[in-house]
Amino acid sequence: MISSIPFGDMQLSILSDGTYFLDGGAMFGVVPKPLWEKRAPANEKNQITLGTNTVLVRTGKHTVVIETGIGNKLPEKLRAIYDARQLLMQSFQSAGVRPEEVDIVINTHLHFDHCGWNTTRMPDGSIVPTFPNARYFAHRGEVEHGHLQLERDAVSYISDNYDPLIANGQMTLLDGDAEIVPGVSVEVFPGHTAQMMAVMLDSGGKRACYISDLIPTSAHLDVTWVMGYDLDPLTCIEQRKRFLHRAIPEHWLVLFTHDHQRPMGYVQWGAKGKPELREAV
Ligand SMILES: [Zn+2]
Repeated sequence: MISSIPFGDMQLSILSDGTYFLDGGAMFGVVPKPLWEKRAPANEKNQITLGTNTVLVRTGKHTVVIETGIGNKLPEKLRAIYDARQLLMQSFQSAGVRPEEVDIVINTHLHFDHCGWNTTRMPDGSIVPTFPNARYFAHRGEVEHGHLQLERDAVSYISDNYDPLIANGQMTLLDGDAEIVPGVSVEVFPGHTAQMMAVMLDSGGKRACYISDLIPTSAHLDVTWVMGYDLDPLTCIEQRKRFLHRAIPEHWLVLFTHDHQRPMGYVQWGAKGKPELREAV
């Protein structure tokens, strides 16, 4: 199912590489299970269901893709653990968009579940760009961090998702906040990784924001419900506050990267001053 809405002069569609499973404890950090499982029920392996939401933005002039799911390059063992579905290309087909039509691809960061279909592994083992006519954008610091292959998060970075695109000149590396095309810009929100970027969509006086892994699902709106995966949880808390203190009063449409049931919605301050989803879209 594709959910698609007009947004100012833009058309926004939520595409998906399918659901996958991650450990519920890792997704909610220090939050006790009796609290998080009310919002995200765990299976017998203690995993919760997550989405891999790609946003297709048609501005009238450009066809922009935000994030590219998990892709088809995950080692078989990991693919089995996550039960990765590899559905993004079908999702494009259902939306009536050919990969050749995409002219901009934005990666908020380079964890494998955000940039997996940047490239495709062909049956002969070769790696080719999935979107042959696109310019790709990512933060330079993410590439550098991925190349370090640190003990903490080496598994999150698969260089075939970006190195071939840097080598062939298709990927532009950013050093900070930037306008990509009119109405589409990126802004760094550190914490999950040091240079994770949110994507801002501005049209008709309204703003939508793909906040990526700073707030991965609508169950993560409490500012302290940060993930075990976050490299700097204290910065995440500060950056979530910075985000919410703009997104709520300015009525931003919030796009959630990993929420398989509520990929977008509006947020409000609820009881006890805690942020909550006001309205799923
Ligand atoms: Zn991530």
